[in-house]
Amino acid sequence: MQEENVIIIGSGPAGLTAALYTARANLNPLVIAGDQIGGQVSITSEVENYPGFPEGLTGPELVERFKEQAERFGARLEYAMVSEVDFTQGVPFTIKTGSNTYQAHSVILALGASARRLGVPGEEAYIGRGVSYCATCDGFFFRGKDVVVIGGGDSAIEEGIFLTKFADSVKIIHRRDELRAKPILQDRAFRNEKISLVWNTVVDEIVGEQLVTGVKTTAVKTGEKGQIATDGAFIFIGHDPNSHLFKGQLQMDDHGYVIADANRMTSVPGVFAAGEIQDPVWRQVATSVGQGTEAAMACTRWLEENE
Ligand code: NAP
Repeated sequence: MQEENVIIIGSGPAGLTAALYTARANLNPLVIAGDQIGGQVSITSEVENYPGFPEGLTGPELVERFKEQAERFGARLEYAMVSEVDFTQGVPFTIKTGSNTYQAHSVILALGASARRLGVPGEEAYIGRGVSYCATCDGFFFRGKDVVVIGGGDSAIEEGIFLTKFADSVKIIHRRDELRAKPILQDRAFRNEKISLVWNTVVDEIVGEQLVTGVKTTAVKTGEKGQIATDGAFIFIGHDPNSHLFKGQLQMDDHGYVIADANRMTSVPGVFAAGEIQDPVWRQVATSVGQGTEAAMACTRWLEENE
């Protein structure tokens, strides 16, 4: 069984920042990165609001820089999924992946959040055949096509704008008559002639043959049923925290967000949490980086005081 000072689960901005700080504190951290490095930002086309990069950069570029910097100070990355943890017996904590079992003197949880499903008929069946949760990944396949985007937040608008690079038309279907997205994104969307808004409308079903051909809708105010022809349905309606592995072991709120105190410590001493797994509010790369820093510094201090 492999023994570690600190295991960081997750490799988005929070996890890789925690890796950088614990590496620089000589803790020789191990990051269990998941199947793919980077979390949500790695599938973000353009990051324009992370300070220090006035020209902006792509999500994958930013992740690569985070990784390089953490590794430069000795952080180790393992590409594996955690299958089981046991935090109930205190230190050392047990963490299992498909191929390894670890004992950790401290743990930082940075598993982030995942795209929420709409939960309508046709959605699961057409994933990869017209239904997508990632414009950066799939936008290219919709060159010259017509697509709909479902949602009204920053993600829906930002990704809708990105899709206009490929698609001939982008209809944004929103359940209210006002967007939740930041004004700067709204302005860009309203100015983009490929984008049109379908207000006060919900999608009830995604239909197609081999590939998606349309979405069935209901107008919220009138109850009128309709159908919009489309080649693709991009769904951006928020996220759920990736906390299911820890149910029953850590305190969480009603939505599954792990509860962490001002020191980013969870209800189990020695287990810390950073980024979107514990943050339903701010959810920015910059805030996740800050929370990863806090968790790493608090973890370092906790190990000094308790080991
Ligand atoms: P969000 O802000 O929670 O917005 C979700 C959107 O989906 C809302 O407009 C919501 O409608 C709609 N929605 C939710 N459930 C729905 C359902 N069942 N059917 C139809 N519509 C539904 O999520 P997000 O856009 O993913 O953003 C998450 C966080 O990341 C936010 O804090 C955001 O600021 C941040 N973010 C920032 C940037 C940036 O700064 N450039 C980019 C992307 C994301 P209502 O409005 O009616 O609730």
